[in-house]
Amino acid sequence: VSPQTCVKQKAGAAAGCLGCSGRCSGFQPHPWSKACVACGCSGVDHAPGGDAEDDQRMGRLLTGSPCSHLTTKVKGGGGLRLYKRNRMIVTNPVVSRKDPTFNTTTYDWAPAGLNQTLAMRYMQLLPESQRPVSGTDGALQRRRKLLVQLPVYDQDPMKCQSLASQEEISSMLLFVKRYKEEVLGVGEVALPGEGGALREAAAQRAAKEPQESPDGSSAGSSTNGTHEESAKAEYHCSGCQGQLSKESPAVYAERAGYHSALWHPGCFVCSACGQGLVDLVYFWANQKLFCGRHYCESVWPRCCGCDELIVGQSFHTGKDGRRWHKEHGCCWRCGQSL
Ligand SMILES: [Zn+2]
Ligand SMILES: [Zn+2]
Ligand SMILES: [Zn+2]
Ligand SMILES: [Zn+2]
Ligand SMILES: [Zn+2]
Repeated sequence: VSPQTCVKQKAGAAAGCLGCSGRCSGFQPHPWSKACVACGCSGVDHAPGGDAEDDQRMGRLLTGSPCSHLTTKVKGGGGLRLYKRNRMIVTNPVVSRKDPTFNTTTYDWAPAGLNQTLAMRYMQLLPESQRPVSGTDGALQRRRKLLVQLPVYDQDPMKCQSLASQEEISSMLLFVKRYKEEVLGVGEVALPGEGGALREAAAQRAAKEPQESPDGSSAGSSTNGTHEESAKAEYHCSGCQGQLSKESPAVYAERAGYHSALWHPGCFVCSACGQGLVDLVYFWANQKLFCGRHYCESVWPRCCGCDELIVGQSFHTGKDGRRWHKEHGCCWRCGQSL
């Protein structure tokens, strides 16, 4: 059995639980803990939902941020926007003596606005386990990261079960509005020295709205942008300080500026958990990159019982520094106080 088939079987069984392989037949939610009542593993291990649900959530997250150009209006959706996830299909001829056949690889996500050559170079710079090739473990990892790094209850008070008052709901709404306007961004992939060209193109397109360009081809090649710098310029990665080759795509973050801040694709990670940032979604605070989860935790404490943020109410702190909502400081299975 090739490794590819193994992974496919695993992905097919994702309705059950990936955490305890086979013991659980399907996610059964607990009233407030995010764990599965059937097996005790986290909800994320069950990879609930699907691409359509992910795209709706990401669309909602990017709406109201400077990256709403990565979303598209839902027809008749009353202002609702859907994530324009850039899928990439690569077709290679298979050399054989008989009729030519083709080998097709689908990436569930690829950076926006690149030609295929650059997008492929970008993928090759990622560890293989992180390449979101459809049907492989890498694609599954991407979906898990969406759930872990960008929990829906960090974005929408309606998805929070622990907000206790109108005041807390308002604080949460304000918090989300602020981080969308001031902190959240999506990294852009470009050759060193060419960052910002995509952003300009998007701004120009936005100026031309409402005649939105028909969705589909992501052909727009990143042209030698307007930010030309001296030919002798050397580029260093803001993550590892290592040198960046001028032929290798790098990641830019608009919030960090387009001049000195750029990263190796593998170095574009959350400074708290070290995970690669899913779909390049970052939060920029204190001159550092964060995933959504860890940015939010830098502002509010997080309850280790229900995994939601503790917005403006008193909470318990354990000796180990873990924190709980008062009513969640108990075993989620038996309700016994800890
Ligand atoms: Zn399990
Ligand atoms: Zn389960
Ligand atoms: Zn680096
Ligand atoms: Zn993180
Ligand atoms: Zn809680």
